[in-house]
Amino acid sequence: MDSNRTPRPRALATEAVHAGRDDLAALGLHAPPIDLSTTYPSADSRAEAARIDAFAADGVLDDGPPVYARLGNPTVARFETALARLEGADAAVAFASGMAALTAVLLVRLGAGLRHVVAVRPLYGCSDHLLTAGALGSEVTWVDPAGIADAIRPDTGLVLVESPANPTLAEVDLRAVAHACGSVPLLVDNTFATPVLQRPRESGARLVLHSATKYLGGHGDVLGGVVACDEAFARELRKVRFATGGVLHPLAGYLLLRG
Ligand SMILES: *Cc1c(COP(=O)(O)O)cnc(C)c1O
Repeated sequence: MDSNRTPRPRALATEAVHAGRDDLAALGLHAPPIDLSTTYPSADSRAEAARIDAFAADGVLDDGPPVYARLGNPTVARFETALARLEGADAAVAFASGMAALTAVLLVRLGAGLRHVVAVRPLYGCSDHLLTAGALGSEVTWVDPAGIADAIRPDTGLVLVESPANPTLAEVDLRAVAHACGSVPLLVDNTFATPVLQRPRESGARLVLHSATKYLGGHGDVLGGVVACDEAFARELRKVRFATGGVLHPLAGYLLLRG
């Protein structure tokens, strides 16, 4: 949320406590509110429809009230703000699970006509399966980190690595990998490190993915996923999330903000 943005950089420990909560004191609140509304009152249905159309086209909602929970939810937005801050990104977009988040990234690139993915093994089993099966229409080339630059083609839309990997804890040199990607976006699955130990954007990754189900939740009672990225990519992810419906539930958003 833009209203939660502050000009001065803050220490990670400070962000971990305050990000996504900066407006609470002014609201007279201590705990973040949980907004369970699926839809919101509308005085003017034509204007409301125009706002939804604008969101579907641009992936950004004007400053008015929320419209419908598939476009965005205020409690989930607090979690997104917190994760973006912790990862040093403009924005973050939350999903129903880590796999829903990865699916959305692939759909964004496929939507841009870029169906080829370069990926480094090991990846989380289901991520590997999603790419190997090509279920979404993507095609994958598996390489060692040293082979990334040679594997990139004109239709390569994404390079994907996981470090440390689940469950082998294999690591890759993110700075070297980011360099090899050139202008192709690098997605780093940072689930196992968390932004406390590793912030891949500082090494040149454009996209940072988490299965929030793991350490971000931290208590084994939430399924969720999130992508931290620049605002331009976040808009594309919100459009896909709106169209496909893989939203994070607000209660999960609350628990992840706490986690
Ligand atoms: C669990 C996991 C995923 C998938 O996330 P879900 O929330 O289970 O959909 C992706 N990447 C890594 C590294 C994981 O551990």
